[in-house]
Amino acid sequence: MGPPGVGKGTQASILKDYFNLPHLSTGEILRKEIALNTSIGKTSKKYIDKGLFVPDEILIEIIEEHLKDPNAQQGYILDGYPRNLQQVDDLDNLLKKLNQNINVAISITADKEELISRLIKRKKETGRSDDDSKIISKRQDVYWNQTAPIIDHYKKVNLLKEINGLGSIEEVTQRIIKVINL
Ligand code: AMP
Repeated sequence: MGPPGVGKGTQASILKDYFNLPHLSTGEILRKEIALNTSIGKTSKKYIDKGLFVPDEILIEIIEEHLKDPNAQQGYILDGYPRNLQQVDDLDNLLKKLNQNINVAISITADKEELISRLIKRKKETGRSDDDSKIISKRQDVYWNQTAPIIDHYKKVNLLKEINGLGSIEEVTQRIIKVINL
């Protein structure tokens, strides 16, 4: 977990190689669906381009398919899911059904000014349609309203590790590796 621009995707793709686990990024999966113009893609685009969350029913469907994949049976890194309390519940039910469990929930933190300047830089580099200053601000608000409460949930169930997201990519990676005891 962490606000847009904090480096979740960057860290998850480094950790995927380090731990040799699949990286399941819901943002990436949805962007692929959009590129392929599937029915999930068409619906999702309407929400993503406004900086809003895609409906929970679509997300759990995608997650179920990926968690059942033979490549995910030794573990996986979930990036961008769950993102609200309903998704926490949906995921818990699915994990029970699949007889899987969460080992650790990582929350990466950084201040808002730093995040906005990182996202403006990413827009220049990748041209992501939702990295526009108005949409960035909307996505930050959605994060603080909907995603921040799930941090408390993972704290209560003793799975939460908080990581300072400021510093170089390598420094943040080392902090994460240190708290993960696989
Ligand atoms: P991300 O690449 O993780 O920043 O996700 C980009 C966008 O995809 C988000 O702003 C949402 O519109 C959508 N999205 C990704 N993951 C989820 C999720 N778990 N629930 C709802 N919408 C999501």
